[in-house]
Amino acid sequence: MISRRDWLRSLGLAIGACTQASASPDATAEARSQASSNLQPLPLGEYQPRSMLHARETSVARAAFPVVDVHTHITVSAKSKNGVALSAQRTYLGAPNELLPVMDRKNIHAMVNLTGGYDEGLAEVLKRYDQAFPGRFYSLTEPCYSRFLEPDYPRIQTDAIERAHQAGAKGLKILKTLGLYLRENITSGRLVRIDDARFDPMWDVCGQLNMPVAIHVSDPIAFFTPTDRFNERYEELSNHPDWSFYGRDFPSNAELLEARKRMIARHPKTQFLVLHVGNFAENLDNVSENLDRFPNMSVDIAARIGELGRQPRRSRQFFDRYQDRILFGTDATPHGDAFPQQIFNDKLYEIYYRFLETEDEYFDYAPAEVPPQGRWRIYGLGLPNSILEKIYNRNAARLLQINV
Ligand SMILES: [Zn+2]
Repeated sequence: MISRRDWLRSLGLAIGACTQASASPDATAEARSQASSNLQPLPLGEYQPRSMLHARETSVARAAFPVVDVHTHITVSAKSKNGVALSAQRTYLGAPNELLPVMDRKNIHAMVNLTGGYDEGLAEVLKRYDQAFPGRFYSLTEPCYSRFLEPDYPRIQTDAIERAHQAGAKGLKILKTLGLYLRENITSGRLVRIDDARFDPMWDVCGQLNMPVAIHVSDPIAFFTPTDRFNERYEELSNHPDWSFYGRDFPSNAELLEARKRMIARHPKTQFLVLHVGNFAENLDNVSENLDRFPNMSVDIAARIGELGRQPRRSRQFFDRYQDRILFGTDATPHGDAFPQQIFNDKLYEIYYRFLETEDEYFDYAPAEVPPQGRWRIYGLGLPNSILEKIYNRNAARLLQINV
C-alpha cells in the first residue's frame, strides 16, 4: 500500500514525463504502469461515480395537473407461499394519515391500491381507505388462487369478482403469479399458463361489469437471461436473486407474452391495463404492435421510467402516438426500502414529474445512491400540457370511471 500523496506524486511524474520531449519512452511507460499497479481493484457495489456534467436541474415539486397514481401497493397479501398469495387477509403498509400529506404536497388526487385482495380482506381495505376518504383511494380485487383446486373454481372466481364489484372494487389486479408462480397444485406441479381456459370466465365477467384488468405478465427481459457479467441488471439481480426466471421450468419472456396475446385476443370486450409499459419497455416497437392490434389495451409507466428515460426520443414518439392509452403509475410502496425505484415518498414523485414535464438531461430515475435497475441515467420528455393532463388523470378517470 502507498499513501494517497505518493500515489498522486507518481501520477504527476507520469504526466510530467509526457510533456518532456527529452524523457525516454521507457521511463514514461514505467511510470504509468507503476501508477496503475498501485490502484486496488474496486468492487462494483462500491463504485459510485459522481457526474461532472453541468446540466440543468429543474425541481418539480407538484405535478402540472392533479394526479391519479394507478399503480400502488398500500396493502398486500398477509400470507403467500412460493410466490402465490394464499390469504384474503391483508398486511397494511401505510395508513391514510401517513399517505395523505404526501399526496397533498405532490398534487396526487388519488392513489389506486392494486393489491386489495378479496372477500373479508377487501372489505376491510375498502372500509379503511376508499370509504373513509372518498375520491382519494381506490382499490382493486385479486383472484382467490387458494381455491384453484376446487372443481368449480371458474364459477367460484367469477362469483368472488361479482361480490367485489358490489362492495366497491374498481377492477381486477393480476400479479405475475399467473405465468410464473401458480402451478397445477397451486404451489407445486406444472406452471399454469396465462391463457388457461379456466380463467376465461374471470376475464369475461370483468368485461361485463366494466372492471378493467390491471395485469402484470412476465418481467424485464434481463431477468430471463443468466445473471452474469453481460447482464445489464446484474446488481439488481444480485440484490434480489429470486427475481431471476432464468432456467428451471420457467417459460421464456417471449412465450409469456405470446400467451398474453392469445388471452387478450379472446376477450375483446374486457379492458386490459398492461402494467409496466406492457411489461416490455425495453422494446417499444413490440408494445406498439400490441397496442395497435388490441384497442382494449392500455399501459401504465410504473417502475419503468428508467427504461423510457434512456430512450427519450423513441419514448416521446410513443407518448405522442398513444397519449390516450398511457396512464400514470409508479408502483409506489410505503416503506418499500428494498426497492428504491418504487419507495413511496416525495422524492419518487418529483423524479416522475421531472421526467414527464422537463427536458432536463442525465438524471437519476430513482431516489438511490446507485441506480437500482441498471447503471444508467435518464432524460426528460418535456411533454406538452395537452398530453400531460391525459397521462396524469384523464385516461385513468375514463378507464376506472372515476371523477377527478
Ligand atoms: Zn406493482
